[in-house]
Formats: sequence, C-alpha cells, structure tokens
Amino acid sequence: MSRRVIQDDKLKNFINGNWQEPSGGKYTDVTNPANLETLVKVPLSTAGDVEAATEAAKKAQKNWALVPAPQRAEVLYRVGMIMKERKEYLSQLLTMENGKVIEEARGEVQEGIDMAFYMAGEGRRLFGQTTPSELKDKFAMSVRAPVGVVGIITPWNFPIAIATWKSFPAIVAGNAVVWKPATETPIMAFELARIFEEAGLPEGVINVVFGSGSTVGEAMIEQDTIRVISFTGSNEVGRNIAGKCGQRLKKVSLEMGGKNAVIVMDDADLSLAVEGILWSAYGTSGQRCTACSRVMVHESVKEELEKRLLTEIAKLSIGNGLDESVKVGPIINRSGLEKIKAYIQVGKEEGAKLLTGGYIMENGTHANGHYFAPTLFTDVRGDMRIAQEEIFGPVVSLIPVKSLEEAIEINNSVEYGLSSSIFTRDVNKVFAAQRDLDTGIVYVNAGTTGAEIHLPFGGTKGTGNGHRDSGVAALDVFTEWKAVYVDFSGRLQRAQIDVE
Ligand code: NAP
Ligand code: MG
Repeated sequence: MSRRVIQDDKLKNFINGNWQEPSGGKYTDVTNPANLETLVKVPLSTAGDVEAATEAAKKAQKNWALVPAPQRAEVLYRVGMIMKERKEYLSQLLTMENGKVIEEARGEVQEGIDMAFYMAGEGRRLFGQTTPSELKDKFAMSVRAPVGVVGIITPWNFPIAIATWKSFPAIVAGNAVVWKPATETPIMAFELARIFEEAGLPEGVINVVFGSGSTVGEAMIEQDTIRVISFTGSNEVGRNIAGKCGQRLKKVSLEMGGKNAVIVMDDADLSLAVEGILWSAYGTSGQRCTACSRVMVHESVKEELEKRLLTEIAKLSIGNGLDESVKVGPIINRSGLEKIKAYIQVGKEEGAKLLTGGYIMENGTHANGHYFAPTLFTDVRGDMRIAQEEIFGPVVSLIPVKSLEEAIEINNSVEYGLSSSIFTRDVNKVFAAQRDLDTGIVYVNAGTTGAEIHLPFGGTKGTGNGHRDSGVAALDVFTEWKAVYVDFSGRLQRAQIDVE
C-alpha cells in the first residue's frame, strides 16, 4: 500500500493545483473487495467543490490553450514516463481497490502508459484539413479548437485506463478538466493526479473532485462552464445524464454496457476458442463492459465445447488478485454479488441448464471477500433474460445454433452493441461476420476483450450515443471543428454568388 495513502488516511480533492478537503468535511470508506479491509477514506464532496474546480479549470484553460500543442504534449510524455516507472506500484494498488488480478492490473496500467505516449504524439498532429476555396485568392482550412472546460465521469471497473482515455486527449487538445472518479475506486485517481502534478501540468488544468454521482456528477452537469460531459458507466445513469445535458445543449459522450458474444463455428480451433472464452468471460470476474457473456456455438461442436469449458473452469483459482496464481478475483461489492445471484435464479426459471457455478463463495478464505463462482449455463435461448441483460459477473450462457446466420441474428438481437467475436477457419465466414455483426468492435479468432488504444473504442445502439473513446476519434469529443477562410484578394468575394 502507498505510504502516502496510509499516512494521509484520507484522500483529498485536487483543485487548482492544491490538495483540499471537501467543503462539507464528509468521507466514506474505500474497501478492498478481496478481504473487506478499509484502504482509505474518500471525500464526499459538495456542489460547492465542483464550482471551485470548474472556476479553476476555466481560468487555467485560457492559458493552457495558448501553449503550443507539442509543448502540451511534453507533459503527457512525462506522465507516461512516471507511470512506467511506477507501473508495479500502481498495479498493486489497482488490484487492492478494484479486485482484478495483478496480471490484469498491470495490463490496465500499461494501457494508460500507451495512451500517454499515443496522445502525446497527437501534440504534433491534431490534424485539420486544407481544401481549395471555390473563389480566387482565398484559402480554406479546418482546425480543431478546444471546447474549453470538460467534465469526465468514470466507472470503477477500469479506474485508471478509462481516465487516461478521456483526460489525455482532452488535455493535449488544450482543454482543462474536471474529473469525478467512481467512489468505489478513488485511489487510482489520486495517484494519477499526483503524477500530473509531478509532470508539471499547470495548476487548474486537471481538477479531481471525489464524491457521489448524485451530488458531484449532477453538479458537474449543472455547471454551464463545463461544455462536454464524457461518461463511462451504466445505461441507466448514462440515459439520465444524456437527458439533462440535452436540455442544456451540452455535448455528451456516453460509453455504457454490453452483452457481448463469442461465436464458435463447426470449423473452429476449439482449444483456441476455449482459451478465448475463458479469458474474456471470467477475466476481471466478468466485470468488463466487453466481457463475453454469451457463446453462440454450432450444434455439432456444442457437447465438446461444454466438456472442454467445464474442465478448464474447474482449474481456475479464485481469490485475492495479489496472489500471482489466482486467475479470478472478487466482485466489486455486495450489491454486485446479489445482482449476479438474482440472475442465476432468473436463468433457472427460464429453463436454462446450469452446468457449473451459480453461487456466492462463502467458505474458507472466500468468506472474507466478495467472490462468485465462475458459472456456465447451457441450452440457453437468445431471447431469455440471461442472454439479453448485462449481468456484469462471471456468468456465461451457451446458446446452440445451426448456422452462422442464426448466430449473427442472435448476436444482434440485444439492446447493446459493444463487442463480438467469431472463431472459424473459413475466410468467407470471417468477412461476412465482420460485416454483419452490429457491434463497435469485432474480433476474429480471439475473445471479446483486448482493445488496443490507437483504435476507436465504443459501441452501437444502447452501448453509446455515437461517440468513441480512444484512438484519434476521441479527439472529436474534446474539440470543436472550426472552419477558417482567409481571403487575400483585397475585394469582397461572395461565396455561391461570385463563382462565374
Ligand atoms: P455507474 O453506476 O453508471 O457509475 C459510473 C459513474 O457515474 C460513477 O463515477 C458514478 O459515481 C457516476 N454516477 C452515478 N450516478 C450519477 C448521476 N446521477 N449523475 C452523474 N454521475 C453519476 O456504473 P458502474 O457501476 O460504476 O460501472 C459499470 C457499468 O459501466 C457497466 O454497465 C459497464 O458495462 C459500464 N462500462 C462501460 C464501458 C464502455 O466503455 N462501454 C467501460 C467500462 C464500464 P459513484 O459510483 O461514485 O456514485
Ligand atoms: Mg470497494
């Protein structure tokens, strides 16, 4: 554990370059889901704290926008270097606050490092376009302008990676940020703010306000100065935010849930498919927006796939993710456990066949944390609730199918559209599937997880509202396109009229 975190015992907000207590003086405990130990206290800030952060951001942004983008980028290079030096330390803290196993925590921190270097590179790109004018002696171009102050609201399941997906492009593009991390996982936010400070980011360019969504999140939406809200989290909260931002004509970027599927065709490499399913379904205990929770399996290989999955699931070790041999960590909190358990009952009542798991683990050391047994249902139909709704736990539904067309139809029948995958050796099926699967991400011969940071991340339908995190597409969220016309003819030339 961080000496800094333990010594302070309480985290502080980071506003205008100062570490501050929340104005109301209220805190709540941050708990390690692997053993229910209290790690630190996190502020429950007020609308007044949000206002102070927004004012600081507004003031800082004016100067920050005038710093040449390649110089802004140098701060991100330094952030990336510090994260790299501190990778193991950050990863261990991440496992402690979130529960994901250490190998995955290292992967998540690496994602942040990659994002730092990638977005730092944007400091020398941030490309616009030049294009000919329709008139003589006139120049036309489009440039990216910062939107000003941006609001970032992040979830607990990727407490550092998602924060970097949003804050790094915002900062390199010349914005200032007000960031509300999830109350469940504030330590990564505290550490990232420290890193920004050490990297020399001017005061007020990033401000971190801890506290609940209903107080701090809502207060951010009410601040007129915050021109964009970039949110990742649940559909329910996302819809609520979208409605409020819509009323205020505030730009809003939403990344929400998923009901992601793997398709296993009759010609698939079954060993590879089993590995892909295990990793993407039970990794992070199924608490990824891209987690595999459905498998559409060709009926001719269904029995074999069931047998092999059961063999491998039995080998998964479940426990505290700091232990290198553990493959599946805990669920984030008690209500997460209860939600998963309720879906097991729903699945049974719907007539699905439970092959393994389906219970909260309450014996031995598992009694000290929030553990759910890796679960496999079979003979599931695509229209059952367990095959339609996001469970956010280590629960997989096998759905037998007769053809690729049927598998794709079932894939596309859910309200979400984040990630999908197909295992096949047939190139014709590969290309048909990548065209017809209606998700924002498609994998061939891999599970449903594993996004790389220089590609767009996000989904269709109920997963989002048309924006993308990550990749160059993320810049569109944090910039406004500005069209600039320079007439050097010395006369008044009228577009559309003086064209002959
Ligand atoms: P959540 O409950 O929606 O919370 C997400 C964030 O929103 C938290 O910081 C939360 O704050 C805040 N919030 C809650 N109510 C709010 C309100 N009324 N106004 C403004 N902000 C509010 O989601 P979660 O349970 O943390 O995360 C799990 C969900 O995220 C899943 O559905 C998952 O699929 C989705 N997810 C999607 C992606 C993606 O990129 N598509 C990636 C990861 C996760 P507090 O919790 O501190 O109150
Ligand atoms: Mg916790």
